[in-house]
Amino acid sequence: MSSQPSYDEIRALTMADPKAKKSVSLKDYPTRGDKVFESKKDAMASLEEDALAINELQDALFAGKAGALLVVLQGIDTAGKDGTTKECFKYTSPLGVHVHAFGRPTEIELAHDYLWRIHAAAPRKGYIAVFNRSHYEDVLVVKVRNLAPSKLVEQRYEQINRFEKHLIENGTRVLKLMLHISKEEQGQRLKERLEVPSKRWKFNPSDLEDRKLWPDYQDAYETLLQRCSTAWAPWHVVPADSRSRRDAIAARLIRQELEMMDPKYPDPGYRLEQYKID
Ligand code: ADP
Repeated sequence: MSSQPSYDEIRALTMADPKAKKSVSLKDYPTRGDKVFESKKDAMASLEEDALAINELQDALFAGKAGALLVVLQGIDTAGKDGTTKECFKYTSPLGVHVHAFGRPTEIELAHDYLWRIHAAAPRKGYIAVFNRSHYEDVLVVKVRNLAPSKLVEQRYEQINRFEKHLIENGTRVLKLMLHISKEEQGQRLKERLEVPSKRWKFNPSDLEDRKLWPDYQDAYETLLQRCSTAWAPWHVVPADSRSRRDAIAARLIRQELEMMDPKYPDPGYRLEQYKID
């Protein structure tokens, strides 16, 4: 592929088919990303260009307040949800981007339906919200660890599809990125967390518990990719073994989503000749 792959090429490689009738297999999606960017240098150049463009588009989005963008990031521990956010929005004003990390629900959150806390964090018009984990945890960890009755979990796929449609019909575009890494790469990154002093704080022994459940998590991801990749909010499976390629692919998808929104600066509501500044 060329050093600057087009959006269509990236989309073709990453998008989970919204019409998939049979189950999706994650094995069909690469984890390396070298088919998109041959070299890390190409990926870094592309990221640079797209991160700058994202800043400009966000500025117009903020000024025009005509719509909002929600970026949903999911991925197994160490897949790089934090790093992707940092890189894609490195040139974007923090005033216009809100990042929400969803951890284990609090008592009050558990007393509501599972979408309550999610809807409350959805972006206002003019803003970009990034969800680091999301409502999809309610069909991932909750399913794998049996934290809710399976009958309730089963109903959630359709509820989530309807919820996302509701957001879209009310002016919020939804871009969903699953960061896809191999088990070997996760092993390397967990080791790195133990070995590098500045990364030790990120290590959580429960990550090892989840690693033991790897096949169950992969199954749960395959199910949600099949059932929640919709025509209005398709899932993209982003190869995430290489950090630079992952960030470049995510940035290209975010930039394109913003370009499709076509944000415009508003009419200022006055005539320039009305004012003279000396
Ligand atoms: P991260 O691993 O994303 O850096 P944390 O270490 O705070 O952040 O982990 C967040 C934890 O919260 C994860 O183990 C995740 O599975 C869990 N979590 C998120 N949403 C839910 C949920 N709805 N129900 C139960 N656990 C959840």
